[in-house]
Amino acid sequence: MSIICIECTEPADRSLTRQNADTIWGSLHSRRHTSPRCPVCERPTLLRRSAVPNYALRACPKCRLEFLDPQPADSVLAAIYSDDYFLGERGAETAERRSKMKSATGAFYIDTLARLVRPENADLLEIGCGHGEVLLEARKRGFRISGIDISEHAAAIANRRLGEPAVSVGTIETLPLAPDRFAAVLGADVIEHVRDPEGLLLRIREMLIPGGILLLITPSLDSWTRRLLRSRWMEYKVEHLYYFSAMSIRLLLERCGFDEIRVSPGRKVLTIDYIARHFSRFRVPILSPLIGLLRRAVPGRIAHRQLLLSASGLMAIARKADARRPQ
Ligand SMILES: [Zn+2]
Repeated sequence: MSIICIECTEPADRSLTRQNADTIWGSLHSRRHTSPRCPVCERPTLLRRSAVPNYALRACPKCRLEFLDPQPADSVLAAIYSDDYFLGERGAETAERRSKMKSATGAFYIDTLARLVRPENADLLEIGCGHGEVLLEARKRGFRISGIDISEHAAAIANRRLGEPAVSVGTIETLPLAPDRFAAVLGADVIEHVRDPEGLLLRIREMLIPGGILLLITPSLDSWTRRLLRSRWMEYKVEHLYYFSAMSIRLLLERCGFDEIRVSPGRKVLTIDYIARHFSRFRVPILSPLIGLLRRAVPGRIAHRQLLLSASGLMAIARKADARRPQ
């Protein structure tokens, strides 16, 4: 059976992708957090009833950060990223709709950034840029663009789509990028995956120009879906190593030398069809069958209509402070 990229439906080599994930995620995830203290506010943490099968989940009683402890092995994460993340079912129509949805979400992120950073002659970096939909939107508005992705396949697609070698394979920790270069850095759905979020933010800070802006998107423990679904929340996954509340992301950003921090519910452009597919792939009792029923009940033109929704994430915007506060 041939293996296809879930986003572009082009053939992809499973062994190459696995090797890619093994080496790159292995490097990124080489440092493991094993302390029972909260890595954000340093309070002793509590074990909570784990929502992630086979993994213990710790929660901070002060800032409400949650994290897997111990973290999954590199080989477990590499298998998840190589098989389920980058590769998947065939379907050019689905891929095109998904790409349009990502572009619309990207346009929303870039419009948000462009209100804080004048795009003309400003350098923007996207971490985890996938197939480059957000970078395309950024370039349309006048940003000079750079991207990083751990998937060699995704980076190749992005560069072809962009018509310039703007995307590199690797991580912000390992790539030799110049410090004090970027006016804006965007990381959507990245920080919850890394073993060392503090290290990631410090590296981003190093690469921002003074006063540069960071925009982060990550699942939120304050979201309505988390409050409703509790331990059945769809964001509890083996590959999500950290779960932030508004308070914990704010504290971590302050600790890493950012100020003018604003945290708000994250919004994404989604369709009923996409939501139904997601809940069919990642089953949640009661909710998955209900959403399946809804999908079957609505006509196609409504199921594919783009909606800007607040579901499970937060958006954090922060400015590189002039100096880091003493710890
Ligand atoms: Zn804490």
